[in-house]
Amino acid sequence: MLDELKKGLAHFKTITYKKHEKLYSDLENTQNPHTLFIACSDSRVSPEILIDSDPGEVFTIRNIANTVPAYETSLNDITTVSSIEYAIDVLGVEEVIICGHSNCGGCAAVLNGWGHLTDLPYTQNYLKPLETVKEKIEKENAFKDEKTKARLMEQMNVVEQVNHLKTFPGIQEKLATGQLEIEGWYFDIKSGNVSVYDESSNAFIKSEEYKSIR
Ligand SMILES: [Zn+2]
Repeated sequence: MLDELKKGLAHFKTITYKKHEKLYSDLENTQNPHTLFIACSDSRVSPEILIDSDPGEVFTIRNIANTVPAYETSLNDITTVSSIEYAIDVLGVEEVIICGHSNCGGCAAVLNGWGHLTDLPYTQNYLKPLETVKEKIEKENAFKDEKTKARLMEQMNVVEQVNHLKTFPGIQEKLATGQLEIEGWYFDIKSGNVSVYDESSNAFIKSEEYKSIR
């Protein structure tokens, strides 16, 4: 497999880098990304591929189940909050996307119980805050089928993380002055569709239809 990675490097240098040679040269000493993209570490969810972006456009954070701690518990995930701080305060990104996805292993682990995570103490501890999302799903959708519940867990998790992000005073300030926009997205792996959370209808709407209802 390592040989395959080297082949990938060769392809990057001869094709991809070549195509963006001027861009990489311009970006040598600076970056000015417009977007902070917070996605799951899942190998199927690649922000740059999803939004078809070039190098230098997107600052990314990836972790299991695309989580953001709330302000009062921010020190529980210093990696994520320090990256957010840098993106907002230093790079001055104008948009934050929090993107969940279908068949998310992190969300499934929370929804289906901790039984199979007993040998993964770090993961279990990390995912604990998602319990509140699970409780909401179980309470309001107790009789729905497992597949529906899984999707609700993944989507409501996105909403929860957007709400967490909005608890930071610095973010609230930028939202109030229109310097920042935040959207919650949901990527369906099989169809390739991305839907966007619409607060007024409390629903995820296909990205191509979302624009027209705003
Ligand atoms: Zn995931």
